[in-house]
Amino acid sequence: MSTEYDVIIVGAGVAGLYQIHKIKEMGLKVRCLEAAPKIGGTWYWNRYPGARFDSESWTYGYSFSKELLEEWDWTEDFSPQPETEKYLNYVADKFDLKSSIDFNTMVKSAHFDEKESLWNLTTEEGKKYTCRFFVPAVGILSAAVMPDIPGVETYKGISYHTHKWPQSEVDLTGKRVGIIGTGATAVQIIPEIAKIVGNLTVFQRTPNWCTPLHNKKIPKDRMEQIKKNYDEILELCTQTPGCYIHSTDPRSTFEVSDEERTAFWEKLYAEPGFGIWQGNFKDMLTDRTANTMMSEFLAEKIRGRVNDPILAEKLIPKDHGFGTRRVPQETGYYETYNKENVQLIDINENPILEIIPEGIRTKEGDIELDIIIYATGFDAITGAFERIDIKGINGKELRELWDDGPVTYLGVLVADFPNMFICMGPHSGLGNYTRTAEYSVEWVSDLISHAVQNDKRNVQTSELAMDEWTNHVLSLGEGLLMNEIGSWMTGVNRNLAHKRKPRIMRYSGGHPAYREFCDKVKEDGYRHIVFS
Ligand code: NAP
Repeated sequence: MSTEYDVIIVGAGVAGLYQIHKIKEMGLKVRCLEAAPKIGGTWYWNRYPGARFDSESWTYGYSFSKELLEEWDWTEDFSPQPETEKYLNYVADKFDLKSSIDFNTMVKSAHFDEKESLWNLTTEEGKKYTCRFFVPAVGILSAAVMPDIPGVETYKGISYHTHKWPQSEVDLTGKRVGIIGTGATAVQIIPEIAKIVGNLTVFQRTPNWCTPLHNKKIPKDRMEQIKKNYDEILELCTQTPGCYIHSTDPRSTFEVSDEERTAFWEKLYAEPGFGIWQGNFKDMLTDRTANTMMSEFLAEKIRGRVNDPILAEKLIPKDHGFGTRRVPQETGYYETYNKENVQLIDINENPILEIIPEGIRTKEGDIELDIIIYATGFDAITGAFERIDIKGINGKELRELWDDGPVTYLGVLVADFPNMFICMGPHSGLGNYTRTAEYSVEWVSDLISHAVQNDKRNVQTSELAMDEWTNHVLSLGEGLLMNEIGSWMTGVNRNLAHKRKPRIMRYSGGHPAYREFCDKVKEDGYRHIVFS
């Protein structure tokens, strides 16, 4: 069976849902193919205990509909996963998006037909689709990675990757639980489940610099006030580098007195959200000494919160400075290690040898477990693309082209892959997800609209444009301490060490500059994009 559409979107997460809405508004024939049985993407899959936003809820919602902003009440500053999933379903129902989605549909391949200027998509089940414009909105953290530890498949107990947490209730009460990983996901789940499990063993390879989230309930009257202020809040988000409400402090770490500096950091530590990362001194992420001073401030905080000084030292990162990896935001994370039922195993001292039917075998002995949780992260940013066999002109493979790192024009187009418009992929301005996704969706929609209105069937960029943009992205990343360390932001998941070196994956010039660039390309009649 072959079905013809003007546009096929892959993925019904935050970006894909809005993309459906925009294409429907244009009166084009659209279909969205979604691997999950329901909408939500990240917010469908990551339903582990403690999963919640780390952007303020009232900055994360869609802004394209004033009515929607008025109708929806967030109940917490950092919305928990069930509420976010409910919100996305509310949006999907309000704008009748679900009828445009084929669920349980995993795209296996997408091949460009040069003669017809069409994309042919095939699903895992063998169903075929044809479309003029192919929009992958597959997410940046959607290809989960299991650890490369021998014996994973031999385990006889229950095990979950946090990204594939089951729909049904998981009863952890009184259970012996082990968790591998200490990234942002683990930092959310650990304090939550430590309250109910019998025993929790955390297997840590690299500690991260975690800062307090300070989540609060939003009473009705405050939500009313937020609604009145939406224009200013959303405008503020357009001005900051990451589209959060937090903006880099214009001062340098060294131009203030020691007392002023400490008072500023104390203030940031006591405030909710990413201010301590995104609103810190301007040189905190570029000047090594400034970064070390900030890291020492936080190390003292950890020492002050963890009773056992040896354990506290294990929880302090030694191989990277604060903010050079994405900052996990925590609620009682460090105090969790003061509980009697929680143990930390530093696997650098006591390595995991293998997973055995009863639990985890370490160098120092076996740990019997009822449940193993893998919080081992993602093949970020390009991983979800690699799962699809994407072929452009002359059968050119996207996987192969991106083998040494992604190359794109504006993070949207790839030469020799005409009519493919990536929504929120590598090299685009990433940050507060919905804020940045809305811009990308609108830019892609305008591009499609331009092609359709001018009766053009083929939209492509050149290798030269792609090289120029890629070099621009790479040069912006130079000098940033963030790009020196392996993390998902540099495309590194150590389980995939065989295929990945740290690489610059994100546009790091700040979202306002990204928008300015892309707006100008559009104003100039889509510079470096050929419509035929
Ligand atoms: P992650 O940051 O990549 O963390 C994965 C963890 O697993 C790391 O601690 C890693 O250790 C460990 N690990 C992987 N393989 C291992 C192995 N074989 N043995 C031992 N340890 C292993 O992934 P994540 O925690 O899922 O977070 C990814 C991103 O998702 C976050 O940075 C954030 O952007 C996003 N996220 C957002 C929220 C939110 O609040 N909205 C919540 C959760 C996640 P190494 O560091 O040593 O490799």
